[in-house]
This record gives sequence, structure tokens and C-alpha cells, in this order.
Amino acid sequence: MMPPDRPAASADRPRRVAVLGSTGSIGRNTLEVIAASDGRFTPHLLCGHRSVGPLLEQVAACRPRWLVVTDPTAAASIGATALPPGTELAVGPERLAELVATAEVDLVVSAIVGAAGLASTWAAVAAGKTVALANKETLVMAGPLVMRLAAETGGQILPVDSEHSAIHQALRSGRHDEVRRVVLTASGGPFRTRSRESLSDVSRDEALNHPTWSMGPKITIDSATMMNKALELIEARWLFDLPGEKLGVVVHPQSIVHSFVEYADGSVIAQLGPPDMKLPIQYALAYPERYAGPARRFDFAATQQLSFEPPDLERFPAVKLGHEVAARGGTAGAVLNAANEEAVQAFLDGAVRFPEITELCERAVAEHPFQADPSFDDILGLDAWARKEVRTWMNR
Ligand code: NAD
Ligand code: MG
Repeated sequence: MMPPDRPAASADRPRRVAVLGSTGSIGRNTLEVIAASDGRFTPHLLCGHRSVGPLLEQVAACRPRWLVVTDPTAAASIGATALPPGTELAVGPERLAELVATAEVDLVVSAIVGAAGLASTWAAVAAGKTVALANKETLVMAGPLVMRLAAETGGQILPVDSEHSAIHQALRSGRHDEVRRVVLTASGGPFRTRSRESLSDVSRDEALNHPTWSMGPKITIDSATMMNKALELIEARWLFDLPGEKLGVVVHPQSIVHSFVEYADGSVIAQLGPPDMKLPIQYALAYPERYAGPARRFDFAATQQLSFEPPDLERFPAVKLGHEVAARGGTAGAVLNAANEEAVQAFLDGAVRFPEITELCERAVAEHPFQADPSFDDILGLDAWARKEVRTWMNR
């Protein structure tokens, strides 16, 4: 179940936002939402990994209290006079985890990519913060532990992922026990109509060319394999406390309908909008408030067609794997996530072919020493195990 609504924002001061992964696709969209929020929000902390140039531009424009650079080598290149007065530099993931937990932070946007986002998200939830969660990998790896922690601390997790934002909105139409089914929409990615045989030869550039969404490279490859939908099934499983058999996927190439919730009486509630992450980001920051923000609007006159088709599990076996892992729980999600991160990087480096990404994930999930109720350390241990195994398999 979702935690109870937090009190409405106090009108007398802007809510201070920590933007983790501010140089990324979600991070940049978040800064646009904040800039267009009419003083509702202010950037308090910006964090990036290595891209010092873009970070310093953001700092000059936003004047946050803190700049956190997680990579120490990159941080060392920042000269003593590079930051404006009032902005302080902090270095490394441990400092980030400390700073997100401080009383000055009202909201945390978790938009670091991959397992690297887990520790700071965990720290924010442990401190009882409201977290706008883009980093789905956190819930894929450690969903039950993170949700349990949030229940203990009163931390609130609001989804930024467009499908989960849609589901969150549609779930406001009925009670949890009235939900019959939740169906996530998927664009189908760049290879929706490609033959199975031709998928062996797709290039990095073809896979990085997403038809409807502009996103960072890792999630763009995940969309091409449809592993992104697998990760999202698992994310929905824990975020909304829905058993695997209530979760489904439908391919919707236009990316206008962001997901469906079907209730016991047969009513299906959907949320629609153009593919623009500024809308789910604003929803998560402002929830439960709505206001006219910078996101593109749905144009009824220009929308010719909304079409839906079942996913092809033969060409995109990742979807099937996602269903299995969502049903299995335990350590399966952490292993899937780690194997996928390694395999995606290997594909981007030209070391494996496209279908091998999913094959490596299947093998890691199948062969790992499964635990049903892992600790945080068990999860980190199996994350390392999966990465090492996948690298060994690739080198043979
Ligand atoms: P991106 O690659 O554009 O940006 C990643 C950000 O993470 C950058 O700011 C980078 O500096 C930072 N980063 C990378 N490695 C790091 C590390 N080791 N430590 C600290 N910071 C690190 O990625 P993105 O597309 O913005 O995606 C971010 C997250 O949001 C992912 O989990 C993704 O699945 C999720 N998401 C993205 C979209 C989208 O439209 N882009 C939609 C839904 C969910
Ligand atoms: Mg999504």
C-alpha cells in the first residue's frame, strides 16, 4: 500500500529539492520543472558523477547550497574559485548519503542511473524523506526492504517512471482490494517490428535510437530489449504491493497512454499525455497538488491513432523474465539488475550482440543461489556475484 499523503506544501517558503543525477536526462528535466514552478521548489543540492562542465553550468544557473560530485577524480578538477558564493562542494557517495538525510532537504529526486542510485535512495528513505523515484533499479534490487523501511520511517516514495506515475494516478480511483489488474504500456522500442533473426545484427546506434522517448543510454538500451518493461513489472510489484499475476504488459507504440488500472467492476482507468517526463516529475514533486507546469499538453486534434498489441515474448524474452522475477521476488531482482547492467555496458562497448543481453540475464537469474528473504548485505553480495559471473561468461 502507498503510505498516507503528506501534508500539503507550506506556502511560505519553497520546498528544497536534492536532485541526484542532475546532469542526466531526468535530472535536467527536473531542473526545468523546478525553474517553472513559480517558487514552489528550489534546487538545494545538485549531484553528478563525472560531468564537471555541465554540473558547473547548472550550479551557476541554480545557485544550490550543495554541489556533490560522486567521482573523487572529477571533483579534484574543480578549482577553488569555480563555485559561486553560497555553494559548497562535497565529494563522494558517502557524503551524498549524509547530505540527503539532513533537515534542510524536503524532497529528494533519485535519478542516478543503475545500482549506483541505491545507497542515496536508501539514505533518503531512512531519513523519512519524500523521494521522487526515477531510479527503478532501487526497487528491482531491494523492493521489499525499501518499502519496509519507508513504512517504518514514514518516508514516501512517489514514482517518476511514467508508467508508475500513471498507475499511481489511476489507483486514486478505487481501493487496493478492488484492483483486478494493472497493465503497463510499452512503446515496443526501436525493434518492435524487426524479425527475430535480424536482432542478432542490430548496432549500438540503432538500439540507441528510441522512437518516442529521449533518455539516457542505459534505459534506452533497456527499452530496445524490453528489459525496461521487465524492470518496471518488478518495480510495480513492490511499489504498489501487487502480486505478479495482477501485472500485465501491452505494447502501445504512440506512448500516449502511460498505463491502465482495471477494477473489479470492469472499469479501466488510464492516464494520458504526450511522452514528456516533466509531467510525471512534476506530479511526484507536487503531489497531491496539480498546477499548470512546463510539460507538453495532449493534443486531441493531432492524435490520429492509439493502438495496442500484445508483446512478442519470442522476440523480447526479457518481458517473460520480468514476469518470472516479479513472481519469484527474493534475490532474483538484484541478480537480474546486476547482470543487465553488465550486459548493457558490454553491448555498448561492442563486446556482446544484442540478444545476448537478455540471455546473460536469464542465465544469471537461473544459476544464482536464490534466497527468498535476503538482507541488504545478501543483495549487495549477489549484485557483485552476478557482475563477476556475467563478465566470466562473456570472456569465454
Ligand atoms: P542519464 O544517463 O541521462 O543520467 C544519469 C545520471 O546519473 C547522471 O547525472 C550521472 O552523472 C549520474 N551517475 C551515473 N553514474 C553514477 C554513479 N556511479 N554515481 C553517482 N551518479 C551517477 O540517465 P537517465 O535517463 O536520466 O535515467 C536516470 C534514472 O531514471 C534511471 O534509473 C532510469 O531508469 C530512470 N528513468 C529515466 C527515464 C527517462 O526518461 N530518462 C524514465 C524513467 C525512468
Ligand atoms: Mg517507464
